[in-house]
Amino acid sequence: MNKTALITGITGQDGYYLSQLLLERGYRVVGLLPPERQGSVVKLDDLADQVEIYSVDLRDAQALQAAVTQLQPTEIYNLAAPSFVPASWNDPLGTLDLITGTATRLLTAIRHSQLATRFYQASSSEIFGAVQESPQSETTPFRPKNPYGAAKLHAHWTMTHHREQYNLFACSGILYNHESPRRPPQFVTRKVTLAAAGIKLGLMDKLSMGNLDAKRDWGFAGDYVEVMWRMLQTDTPQDYVIGTGILHSVKDLVEMAFNSVNLDWQKYVEVNTTLLRRDEHFQLVADPSNANNDLHWSPQVTFEQLIENMVQIDLQRLQSGQVALTE
Ligand code: GDP
Repeated sequence: MNKTALITGITGQDGYYLSQLLLERGYRVVGLLPPERQGSVVKLDDLADQVEIYSVDLRDAQALQAAVTQLQPTEIYNLAAPSFVPASWNDPLGTLDLITGTATRLLTAIRHSQLATRFYQASSSEIFGAVQESPQSETTPFRPKNPYGAAKLHAHWTMTHHREQYNLFACSGILYNHESPRRPPQFVTRKVTLAAAGIKLGLMDKLSMGNLDAKRDWGFAGDYVEVMWRMLQTDTPQDYVIGTGILHSVKDLVEMAFNSVNLDWQKYVEVNTTLLRRDEHFQLVADPSNANNDLHWSPQVTFEQLIENMVQIDLQRLQSGQVALTE
């Protein structure tokens, strides 16, 4: 019989790549999608008619219990979150309920169902926040600095308690920034690749940026969903830090994107002080040694390949009218 995977947050970037991977591996893939978000299934493009959608309010514990009992999943991937970190300040409690509440309700449902369902919790480098050491590993102390990071940390501990208390197969992947052509343009990588393509095509003439010296550990989302799956195929559940271990600055990103379309970035990019963020942390960089050793995982796509690919795809999308620059 086919394995069944349930995914929350299926219509996001990671949901797409994970669904693709699981479908290729013969899974029945079911997305748990709130009733009011049913329309967003179109975001899955070519996969929209290959996955099943189960309509459920993620805040409704009983409804989630019913979903687990009915669908009998082999694996659950809990990816649902408001992904844009600064926005979490606008609704700290809503962020907590979506991230921590959903994790807690799903873990409780697995516990009560008596199934051997394996559970993946999408954790985030944001739980390290004001970093206590660099690079960060699974033993680095947690010090989140925003509601998003605090909610992800709470979900991480909730998962840990359930693992220890009820012997569930549950684990967290502590993922660093991961990008792709499917990243929404409010994130800096996609903002820059779309602008480089737009300027190349003569559709815009300037790009306003925040801090060019900001640094991140950026990888390719397609590489990161592979490790989510591998974490659930091991003998014992364990948490892993997942990143490239390499820091790049926003300036590197801008330079790479513009170079890839033979433009001199300095002619087009200006710094807009209103885009600067307060109290940023630039030493968020992964030590993925445990994932390398135990899961034989390492990123396959370099930062340069990722950015070049994103620019190429944005060029095609703009030329075909698939996206507009006001997106
Ligand atoms: P985050 O790591 O989840 O905050 O991902 P983002 O892609 O939003 O931001 C990555 C970094 O790029 C942050 O340190 C930002 O301060 C920096 N950055 C510099 N200019 C911009 C900009 O114009 N937009 C965004 N989103 N980030 C910028």
